[in-house]
Amino acid sequence: MRAGDRDAQARPDPRAGRGVAGHHARLQRRREPGPEVAYALRTANKIRLQPEVYGELREQFGLSAQLAVRAIAKACEAYKRDKTIQPVFRPLGAVPFDQRILSWKGRDRVSILTLIGRIEVPVLNQGRWRTQPGTTVRGQADLIHRDGKFYLAVVIDVPDPGDLTEPPEWLGVDLGVVNIATDSDGTTRSGKALRGLRRQNLRLRRRLQATGTKSAKRLLRKRRRREARFARDVNHCISKALVGRAKDTGRGIAPEGLQGIRDRVSRACSVCGHVDKRNRPTRDDFRCVSCGHAAPADHNAAINIGRRAVVMQPNAA
Ligand SMILES: [Zn+2]
Repeated sequence: MRAGDRDAQARPDPRAGRGVAGHHARLQRRREPGPEVAYALRTANKIRLQPEVYGELREQFGLSAQLAVRAIAKACEAYKRDKTIQPVFRPLGAVPFDQRILSWKGRDRVSILTLIGRIEVPVLNQGRWRTQPGTTVRGQADLIHRDGKFYLAVVIDVPDPGDLTEPPEWLGVDLGVVNIATDSDGTTRSGKALRGLRRQNLRLRRRLQATGTKSAKRLLRKRRRREARFARDVNHCISKALVGRAKDTGRGIAPEGLQGIRDRVSRACSVCGHVDKRNRPTRDDFRCVSCGHAAPADHNAAINIGRRAVVMQPNAA
């Protein structure tokens, strides 16, 4: 089973930090040939793409053989998602690793092959995979960059829970606007990038509509499609991550459902149960007027929902 664990966090020492960051930047800069060539040849086939870009990746980007192979695989995966467009990688988008270029040194250090050679990075926050009995870590991992920190999204094998009929615990999910989803572990999947894109498109739309030319209309259509695609992608990633987390930890998912219970959920204290409108001094903050418990509002709500156990068995593979 494949599962990304956002909790395994790598905080490199300064040299390692520069190595990782430089590695990231060079691999992901937009001129990397993979996506462009995949699109030009209309191929998502690694075997076909490899001879076209391998040499350039080795010589001009300084990648080792296996790093080049991973970069080609990533370009193919990205192109496969939507064959009507040429994929563009964000400057700090995820970098995939496999067991040949990433290896664990015990459970608290990881050795990563980068453009400045192998670096060993201490792994600080290891999340659940360490406490979940029977889990083993694989060599596959994505190095991702979020809010100024690098994280390793690690692939782990989790033993099959068998014929578990009733999950012992529920992962509550609060679907909101500020953060698209917050679960009761306090993990937030942010909708920030999506909101930014929508705002930007709205501004552009106004300007283009005022112009009214044929090319303006064409650009409008293109931007609309891209926005829809991006929203789809964000939703897909979020639900996948949530289902993955629930499954890995042997829990069910309790979706925040009916509008009627929503106010109750958002106003109830997840510690003492006191329900009061004044528990929400602002939209984003929760502060219980009875016991003083304070937390981000959506986190508090997600815990309430988890207790409520309005039930849906996760059944995604
Ligand atoms: Zn309270």
